[in-house]
Amino acid sequence: MNSPAYIGRFAPTPSGYLHFGSLVAALASYLDARACGGRWLLRMEDLDPPREVEGAQDAILRTLENYGFEWDGEMVRQSERHAVYAEIIDRLYEAGLAYACTCSRKQLESHQGVYPGFCRLAQHPRQNAAIRIRVPELEYHFVDRVQGEFRQHQGREVGDFVIRRRDGLYAYQLAVVLDDAWQGVTDVVRGADLLDSTPRQLYLQELLGFSQPRYLHVPLIIQPDGHKLGKSYRSPPLPADSAGPLLCRALRTLGQEPPAELSGARPREALDWGITHWDATRIPRSRTLAEAQLR
Ligand code: GLU
Ligand code: ZN
Repeated sequence: MNSPAYIGRFAPTPSGYLHFGSLVAALASYLDARACGGRWLLRMEDLDPPREVEGAQDAILRTLENYGFEWDGEMVRQSERHAVYAEIIDRLYEAGLAYACTCSRKQLESHQGVYPGFCRLAQHPRQNAAIRIRVPELEYHFVDRVQGEFRQHQGREVGDFVIRRRDGLYAYQLAVVLDDAWQGVTDVVRGADLLDSTPRQLYLQELLGFSQPRYLHVPLIIQPDGHKLGKSYRSPPLPADSAGPLLCRALRTLGQEPPAELSGARPREALDWGITHWDATRIPRSRTLAEAQLR
């Protein structure tokens, strides 16, 4: 058999339980994969033990199961991939593409998140320092399947970014690129909060010689106060006994139009309806909480 034309994935971080926004992302990536006969992988992005909520990994898996999701193969944990991350960082460092940074938070606080390059020429030793990758003075852009064209200038809008933190933890930006490539992911479907991380990931893919996946960023859900729905809200786990109605609400958030009676169906039936009727071109770019709650 040829390698499958579509490999998707869901990559939760166990810094909290799955909330409605993560259900929407999981559902979109699942349906987009299954509707074209593709594979769907699960990867636990457990890179940051201090921020991990106890029991969150199990709770995430239980919720996915209760909601009828089935993934292909064994779940991968990023905590088991440290040796790979370390080796790539060494290579980048030795090639002069990455360097050690000893700047304190205080030194950087007036720079609005754009690293000003203080340590670029300093040649600090690697121990007890953050490692940053040098970015080019170039704009990276891509066409998202829902959000359309997105561009970002690496030098001006991002600056050299961290790939290993000072405390030794590996950065999401690097791990996600290495793992998506290693797992052969062809399609990244995730929340629009990661839209502005994508150009950094395109740059790393280019640097490491990986091919670029297609991207689909599902709508952010905007709260009445204008904030997005996210992990900072510390949502309780999604209730196991309302899988049907919540899957239907997630389908509507994604612009799909399930029949009213589907909300009384078993989760598996709701997912099967979603696979059969999936139309990614109907996904809206953003949603307010009120729209997401429409029955
Ligand atoms: N782990 C990230 C999150 O939970 C998602 C990463 C990704 O899909 O690229 O927000
Ligand atoms: Zn520095």
